[in-house]
Amino acid sequence: MTEETTDKNEQLKKKLTPLQYRVTQRKATEVPFTGKYYDFHGKGKYVCICCGNELFGSDTKFGSGTGWPSFWAPVSQDNIREEIDNSFSIVRTEVVCSRCGAHLGHVFNDGPKPTGLRYCINSAALNFVEQEPNSTQTQSAQ
Ligand SMILES: [Zn+2]
Repeated sequence: MTEETTDKNEQLKKKLTPLQYRVTQRKATEVPFTGKYYDFHGKGKYVCICCGNELFGSDTKFGSGTGWPSFWAPVSQDNIREEIDNSFSIVRTEVVCSRCGAHLGHVFNDGPKPTGLRYCINSAALNFVEQEPNSTQTQSAQ
């Protein structure tokens, strides 16, 4: 069992940058205003940097002013898992990828309508996938 875990860790270490590894596997938090997505406005989906699980969409992203990408809802409640995190003697709700268990960030209840939630997510845990252009593309091909 231990061997399997080590293998998985080794693979992730090769695939991820040191920061991405520390955030997703060691629950580190990136320095605010340094991530690549906190002030990013592309249209598309944000997927898990480790396993590609679809997590958030650009339609629920909002400018929270915190320096981290913030969303008021995940793509689906099934794609994330929320866990109580009481490190640093503060009780917070941790958000993890439901498929691979990667640490993503935390959720707070001071977000905008309609959910009132603020998913405060590390850029390092996300990979942005641009929305596919509509199928009208075939017309311009000729
Ligand atoms: Zn994942």
